[in-house]
Amino acid sequence: MGKSEGYRQGVIDIAKEYAKKFYNSKQWQDCRRSYISKVHGLCEHCLEEGKHVPGYIVDHVIEITPSNINDPEVTLNHDNLQYLCLACHNTKTFGNGEEVIRDGLMFDSNGELVES
Ligand SMILES: [Zn+2]
Repeated sequence: MGKSEGYRQGVIDIAKEYAKKFYNSKQWQDCRRSYISKVHGLCEHCLEEGKHVPGYIVDHVIEITPSNINDPEVTLNHDNLQYLCLACHNTKTFGNGEEVIRDGLMFDSNGELVES
């Protein structure tokens, strides 16, 4: 596969093993879909700046951890979600926009890094 260390690290940070089952669950898929339609499919951060940018990823404001992964108040609560475009999500997750995401890599709809 030729994945670099940096790529692996990114995958581990974003899609931790314990969360995989959750991200694949029907509850999350349904929650995610309804949230996206609620925010009209637009990145919420960009919208605050008056820009209409299609969102890309439903992000948990309070990050999912092993201790709250089974708490629907965190994982499936619309109040704990934000819909972000890729640029905003990268900024939030990595603190510095584009460096981590290299050519040929992208997030899929579950927030996992995949080769594009
Ligand atoms: Zn944005």
